[in-house]
Amino acid sequence: MRGTVLYGPRDVRFEDREAPRIEKPTDAILRIAVTCVCGSDLWPYRGIQKVAQPTPMGHEYCGFVEEVGSAVRTVKPGQFVIGSFCISDNTCPNCRAGYQSGCQNLEFMSRAQAPYVRVPWADGTLVPTPELPSDDLLPSLLTTSDVLGTGWFAADAANVKPGATVLVVGDGAVGLLGVLSAKQMGAERIIAMSRHEKRQQLAKEFGATDIVTERGDEGIARIKDLTNGIGADSVLECVGTEESMMQAIQSTRPGGSIGYVGVPHGMKLDVWPVFFHLVRLHGGPAPVRRFLPDLIKLVWERKINPGKVFDLVLPLEQVAEGYRAMDERRAIKTLLRPSSA
Ligand SMILES: [Zn+2]
Repeated sequence: MRGTVLYGPRDVRFEDREAPRIEKPTDAILRIAVTCVCGSDLWPYRGIQKVAQPTPMGHEYCGFVEEVGSAVRTVKPGQFVIGSFCISDNTCPNCRAGYQSGCQNLEFMSRAQAPYVRVPWADGTLVPTPELPSDDLLPSLLTTSDVLGTGWFAADAANVKPGATVLVVGDGAVGLLGVLSAKQMGAERIIAMSRHEKRQQLAKEFGATDIVTERGDEGIARIKDLTNGIGADSVLECVGTEESMMQAIQSTRPGGSIGYVGVPHGMKLDVWPVFFHLVRLHGGPAPVRRFLPDLIKLVWERKINPGKVFDLVLPLEQVAEGYRAMDERRAIKTLLRPSSA
C-alpha cells in the first residue's frame, strides 16, 4: 500500500507504507472512499509545528468497513462509515458529557491520506450512514469528519442562537463552514471577515450577510459600525493566531461568547481584554463525534452542501500538489480520491 508521509517542510511524499491491520479487538480497518488535506496539516507542512519525521498524514476520512476486531459490536464489514479526527470510546464520563475530544482513551487520527486506515475504538468513533451513499454525497459526508464538525463546534461553543448576530473570523474552510453552521442554528446576521473574492462568494452562499475586509483596529471599528457600536453576540475564531483571537475578543459584545477552534500557534493570551470585554471563551479540538449523527442526517437529506469547500479534487497519489495548492492559497481545500475508489 502507498500512503502520504511528511518528511520535512514542504516535502510530502506518497510512498510505500505497511498496510494497516487489526491490532486490538476494538479496531476496524476502513477502505477510504475520499480523504482530504486539512488547514491544520499546513502547520507541520510549513515547518511551523514540529512533528516527528517522517510522519504519516491525514485525519479526515470516510469509507467502507473492511474488517473489524473481535470486540467490535455496532460497526460491520460492508457499512459506509464516517469517524471523527478524534478517536474516542464514546462511553467514558467525558464522552458521555459530549466532550469526546477529551475522551479518557483519546487518540488523534493520522495516516488517513491512504487507501486503507486502522480506526481504534471503532464502536465509539465511527457512525454509519443509513445506506451506502451515492458518489455525489461523498464530499459533503467527508466534511462531517472534521472541517464541518469543527465549524459547527465553533458555532455551538459561541452559543449561536436564533436571531443572533454572528461574526466569523477566518475564511478558511472551517470559517466558511462556521458560517453555514451559524445559519443552520438560526443566526440572523452573519458577518464574515475575508479579503478573498472566491471565499467571500462561498461565505455568502453559506449564509453570510456582510463581508468585512478590514483587519485589526479597522476591522474592529467596522464590526462596531455594523452592530450599533455593540459588537457581535457570538464570535467564531477559526484561525488560531494572537491577532485573530484579539480580533475576536474585541469584536464581541459584553456578555457575548467566543467559540475558538483555530489550533493556537504562537499565541499568548492576554486576560486583560477578556476581563474587561466581559466575554465567554470556549473552544478546543472539536468533539465532532457529538455532532456526527445530526450532521450526517443534514447531508443525507441534502439540506446542506458543505462539500462545496472542496475546490480542488485530485487522485490521492497527487497529494503533494494538494498540499502545495492549499499552501499557496490557490485552493481552499483539496479532496483526495484513492484510485481504488
Ligand atoms: Zn471517552
